[in-house]
Formats: sequence, structure tokens, C-alpha cells
Amino acid sequence: MSLIVQKFGGSSVADADSIKRVARRIVDTHLAGHEVVVVVSAMGDTTDDLIELAEQVSPKPAARELDMLLTAGERISMAVLAMAIHDLGAEARSYTGSQAGMITDSAHGAARIVEVTPGRIRSALDDRAIPIVAGFQGVARDTKDITTLGRGGTDTTAVALAVALSADVCEIYTDVDGVFTADPRIVPRARQLDSVTYEEMLELAAAGAKVLHLRSVEYARRFDLPVHVRSSFSAHEGTWVLSDRALTDRIVRNAQGGSTVEQPIISGTVADTNDAKITVVGVPDRPGEAAAIFTALADANINIDMIVQNVSAEATGRTDVTFTCPQGSAAKALAALEAVRDAIGFASLAFDDEIAKISLVGAGMRSHPGVSATFFSSLAEAGVNVEMISTSEIRISIVTRAAVAAEAVRALHTAFGLDADGEAVVYAGTGR
Ligand code: ADP
Ligand code: ASP
Ligand code: MG
Repeated sequence: MSLIVQKFGGSSVADADSIKRVARRIVDTHLAGHEVVVVVSAMGDTTDDLIELAEQVSPKPAARELDMLLTAGERISMAVLAMAIHDLGAEARSYTGSQAGMITDSAHGAARIVEVTPGRIRSALDDRAIPIVAGFQGVARDTKDITTLGRGGTDTTAVALAVALSADVCEIYTDVDGVFTADPRIVPRARQLDSVTYEEMLELAAAGAKVLHLRSVEYARRFDLPVHVRSSFSAHEGTWVLSDRALTDRIVRNAQGGSTVEQPIISGTVADTNDAKITVVGVPDRPGEAAAIFTALADANINIDMIVQNVSAEATGRTDVTFTCPQGSAAKALAALEAVRDAIGFASLAFDDEIAKISLVGAGMRSHPGVSATFFSSLAEAGVNVEMISTSEIRISIVTRAAVAAEAVRALHTAFGLDADGEAVVYAGTGR
């Protein structure tokens, strides 16, 4: 008997028929003798619809109330899923994040989990009932207000619960068969990965592959929890996200079974069009100015990604500092900088949200020379202009125009020999 946490994303529970289909799958696992804990997202595009509703009512909805509104989406799906399971003859009990013991800090819209106390979930399992937990939400320890973890946060709820319950595996059910070498919606010939390390998955998620919430991968890595990303629309084996060691064991086992599975050099390419680029123009070129800029941004809670500073023009003694941040926090970033303009003495601010970040990720980069050469030549051949560059040990990213994002990713995918023979299946969802 195993303890399995199964997470179903919005596209897997988009309508009544999908909910019944998912209920069948859960009950089958339960009848096979496993302990099953289910975590669900809101149905289909419910969360987007609720945000639109809030914005129609108020251009800047109060964060506490927005969180209260958004958590309603997951409450609907958890209750109807429990009903569907009852009709299949099993007992299910739905729980809000708060009831399931997801204790967070009070940062509305981006709350961090500070503790998980799943007492009620454990008792439900002991009664042979199937607990259904609303994803993406919790309750703040100090204010006792309802919070959300941020968009896509149900993956993190599932992983955190799996860790707290010492589950054997966290299964993430979605609308594609697993993690691919690129988003199958952009690169139809993307190839499914059999397995990927936490480190590579972290880079892929940070680069913008939204198949897993970044924080869920960080959490799984910290506690060495195996994550299995798979489709709720098929019975195919999905992609295992594992530690380096567990992945090596798996490769050896597969090889003994006859298939030679060598770890690929590149695990994927990603395009992300959700960032904006801000340039602080005419910054006095003296020690402490970059610190002042990034302190102001940190105080405003802005997550910075890439940074470049131009060589200062000798005549003026001034330089430009450019950085990228999520489009959603760009207005706040501009306001925070405007507030320190006189203190720093920069000339102006420039803003650009027509950008894309294009990334290539792979652990094999460490040991294979020539990856950067192929990367930049294939982009050049595709006519993609490079505006910024950043790298990690296992990733290269550039910023270019959003209009060429898809083309850039396809060019890299082909250049690194990742194209599959057939087309990947996208089972459902709008990809919003
Ligand atoms: P869910 O509603 O199940 O949480 P998401 O929309 O958050 O689903 O994530 C699944 C989607 O992630 C897929 O439909 C796919 O378009 C997208 N995606 C982006 N990059 C990748 C990738 N490398 N592999 C698989 N899917 C990806
Ligand atoms: N329903 C939330 C969202 O759309 C959480 C999730 O799906 O993970 O972001
Ligand atoms: Mg998701």
C-alpha cells in the first residue's frame, strides 16, 4: 500500500464530465488499496474569470478580498468532485486549505507556506475516506485571513501536503502527457522526457515552463519527494522529477531492461513572454548606485530576473541599468524607482513589455563544449536579435522581441536535435 497525493489541474476538471472521469480514476487508485489524497484546482478558466470580475468591480481590488474571491474557485471543484466520488460508492470529504492545515504568512496573492498540519486529512485516511483538498490557498498564521499562494499554486499545495503526510509520490495530473522538451503548444514536435532532475526542472520552471509551479519543484527538491507529471486524459507513463541519484538508478534499471537511456545533453527550450524590461537611464557611475536601485526594488517586493549595465559614457560619467521583472509587478517597480529618482539622480525610466525570454536548459551543458556556439548561431540564422544574456551552470537565456518568441524556440529545438518524429498531444485546456 502506498500513500499517493494526486493533483488535478483546472483543465482536468473543466466540466461535469471531466469531474466524473477524474473521480473514476481516484476511486480506482483507492480500490487498488492505496491511500489517496486529492488536491484540486478551480474548474477550467474559473480563476481568470474571477479576476476579470474583480477588475470590473474595482480597478485595484483589495488584496485580502481578491484572495477570498479566488479561493472560491477551488471550493467549487473540491465539493463537486467529492459528490462524484460518492456516486461511485466511495467516501470522500472535501476540505478548504485552511481546514487541511495549510498555514501561510500573510502576503496576499503570494503567500508562503510556514507550516502544514494535516491532522484532519490523516484522520480521514484512517477512516478509509478520500480527502479532497482545495489547492492554492491557506490561512495566515498571524491575521487568520484566507490567503492564496500565487497563480499555479495548487502544485505547491500538493507537494507540501505530500511531504507533510510522508507520501510515496505526488502525481501532478494535467492536459499533456508529462514534461516535454518545449511547450507542445508552441513546438508541436516536442518530445516527452522520461525523467528530469529537480535542478533541471527548477531551471525550466524558472525560465517560464508553467507545467509545474516553481515553488513546488523547490519544495519537492528540499524534501526529496518524487513527483510524477502525467495526463489525466490518458494512462501513459508521465515524466518523473527526481534527484540526480534517483534518476541515475532509474537510468541503470531501464538500461538493464534492454532500453539504452542515456541522459540527454539538453532537457528543454522555453519561451516566456510574461516579463517586462525596465531601463534606468543616466545613472551616475559611482559606487552604491546599483545598490540603491535594487534596494528600492527589493523594498517594493519586486522579483528581478536579468540585469545588465552598460559601459558608462566617459563624457557624461553616466550609465544605464536594465533589468527584467514580471509584467504584473512592472507598475510597482516603476513607482518605486520614481520615488528614489532625486536621491539617485538618474535621468529617466524606459519601459518595454514586448519582450520574450528564450532559454535553453540542460545538465549536459556542464560537460559539452559548443552549446553556446550552437545556441547563438541558430538564433542568428533565424534572424533573432539578442538584447540581453544571462546564464547559469545549466541554462542560457536571452531577451528578444516577443513577436519572434515562437520562432526562436522552434529554431533552438531543431538545432539541438530535439524534434520528435510525431506531434505531441495536447488533450485539453485553453493554455491561458
Ligand atoms: P494545469 O491546469 O493542469 O495546472 P497548466 O496549464 O498549468 O495545467 O500546465 C500545463 C501546460 O503547461 C501544458 O498544457 C503546456 O501547454 C504547458 N507547458 C509549458 N511548457 C511545457 C513543457 N516543457 N512540457 C509540458 N508542458 C508545458
Ligand atoms: N486556480 C489557480 C490558478 O489558476 C491555482 C492553480 O490552478 O494552480 O492559478
Ligand atoms: Mg498549473
